[in-house]
Amino acid sequence: MITLPPFLRQLPHGTTTPCAGHGDLFVPDHPSPPASVTDEARDLCAACPVRAACADWAISTRQPHGIWGGLTPEERQPPRQRRRPACGTETGWRSHRMLGEDCAICQDAHVERQRAERLVRLEREHREHGGSPTGYRLEVLLGLPTCALCRAARAAYYAGRPRAQRWYRRAA
Ligand code: SF4
Ligand SMILES: [Zn+2]
Ligand SMILES: [Zn+2]
Repeated sequence: MITLPPFLRQLPHGTTTPCAGHGDLFVPDHPSPPASVTDEARDLCAACPVRAACADWAISTRQPHGIWGGLTPEERQPPRQRRRPACGTETGWRSHRMLGEDCAICQDAHVERQRAERLVRLEREHREHGGSPTGYRLEVLLGLPTCALCRAARAAYYAGRPRAQRWYRRAA
């Protein structure tokens, strides 16, 4: 005995679906029937009173073949999950930020990378300038003790700027 899909019970009494008697169109022998066959089946589904329920049923029961509710097997596949950048990468961190998400893995990795970059820049400031106001700022951001050369370079920098110097004296 054939069990009919439950959505057929929604049909008004005494009526049939447009696909009735068109098995050749809806479940063709060929695994990938020509477009003309598929289109004809679709047209019949478009006028079907239980089209939405039929499509839902075919999707939820993962019907592998045929046209159901006007949809081909491919069209019944769930939309592919949007590819997300891997956690721990900088693109991952940026994508969380854009979506307003919290991710401890990405946040920790980002802070770690930022710290490594700052250390490289500080090393360059020391190598190229001995010390510099930029070096001073990096030392503060890294939570390191400021070095005498960077402190002196910063003081000299602000000494040439009378307005800023006042602020600097107050802050120092
Ligand atoms: S939607 Fe299409 S396949 Fe589903 S019952 Fe109606 S005519 Fe048949
Ligand atoms: Zn993440
Ligand atoms: Zn320094």
